[in-house]
Amino acid sequence: MIVKQLWTANDYRNFNYLVVCEESGETLAIDPLDHEMCLKTAKDRGWEITQILNTHEHLDHTGGNDAVVKATGAKVLAHAGAKDRIPGMDRGLAAGDVIKVGKTVELECLDTPGHTMSHICLLGHADQPALFCGDTLFNAGAGNCKGGGHPEELYDTFAGQLAKLPDDTLIYPGHHYITNNLRFTLDREPDNEMAADLLKDIGEEDPNRALVSTLGLEKEINTFFRLHSPSVITKLREAFPDLPDEPDAKTVFIKLRELRNSW
Ligand SMILES: [Zn+2]
Ligand SMILES: [Zn+2]
Repeated sequence: MIVKQLWTANDYRNFNYLVVCEESGETLAIDPLDHEMCLKTAKDRGWEITQILNTHEHLDHTGGNDAVVKATGAKVLAHAGAKDRIPGMDRGLAAGDVIKVGKTVELECLDTPGHTMSHICLLGHADQPALFCGDTLFNAGAGNCKGGGHPEELYDTFAGQLAKLPDDTLIYPGHHYITNNLRFTLDREPDNEMAADLLKDIGEEDPNRALVSTLGLEKEINTFFRLHSPSVITKLREAFPDLPDEPDAKTVFIKLRELRNSW
């Protein structure tokens, strides 16, 4: 499985992805907003885009569909629940469905509500697993819930699904937000040395050569996975004095999400 991460350099800071079968060159385009870049990259390398996967229905993920379909005849795949909001959908996906790309690539669909209620993450079962997580999980952050989502479901997705994947799972998010997100982690957990070191290392990272993190690293530097950290909880109590002595993880997650909305 070849994964090509494409930095769109737009104001929304989107990443697009091409996932390619090495044997046949057949390609799945994930959220190909920058259709020109996706089409050119595939053409230059002799790859054939046969399918498009939209992680969810927001326009910064679906806006390139028409142009890619027009140029390639690719089929459009997305969460079954998004069918009224994504024009021209060919296949509606549910948890456990498998997307085959060429002969060698199989991607498992995870139903991951929270950012929106029709969000799919894709899990690639290569030697090293890979997660294409759209706007659910970002490097050092979590998606917001302002555009049709709910923080309770986002927590359930994080705790019930993402946190249980292998630690060496590669993380391929839908946006490049790492620098700002690490600053939020440090705002919430000032003694997180790993986050501080990483921020120092990457600084204003060139998104064309973005760090590809792992789930294991995210568990260290992503405040939305650090719900039991005593310093996260102590700091949270400054903002929410009514927080119980030993708040449950869901409460901590939802309060962090609330703070991040206005941070
Ligand atoms: Zn979104
Ligand atoms: Zn987005």
